[in-house]
Amino acid sequence: MARVIERGVDSVVKCRIKKDDKVKVMSGKEKGKMGKVLKVLRDKNRVVIENVNFVKRHTRPGGQTRQGGIIEKEATIHGSNIMLVCNKCINPVRIKMQRLEDGRMVRICRKCGEFIDT
Ligand SMILES: [Zn+2]
Repeated sequence: MARVIERGVDSVVKCRIKKDDKVKVMSGKEKGKMGKVLKVLRDKNRVVIENVNFVKRHTRPGGQTRQGGIIEKEATIHGSNIMLVCNKCINPVRIKMQRLEDGRMVRICRKCGEFIDT
């Protein structure tokens, strides 16, 4: 039997999700939402997705520029809760990594074979 080395969930964000990727939330309270990745926090394995997971924060008046009140801001989502969306399938898909002839690693949709990286 061949041995398959499975990478842990922690590697999802580290290796596969990048800024400006289109992703879908697969679990949690924001399940089903799609958006663009604004920020990747690699050490925490979390991402910030545009218009997803808004949280209200109360701020106090003070400082030089900030006014008091409530601001809404996207909060981070754990990498294990999201999946990359293929532009061709318009669906969350599993991807594989492949090395090109010039040595670059690209991400490819397992379903349709489309390059995720351009
Ligand atoms: Zn695809």
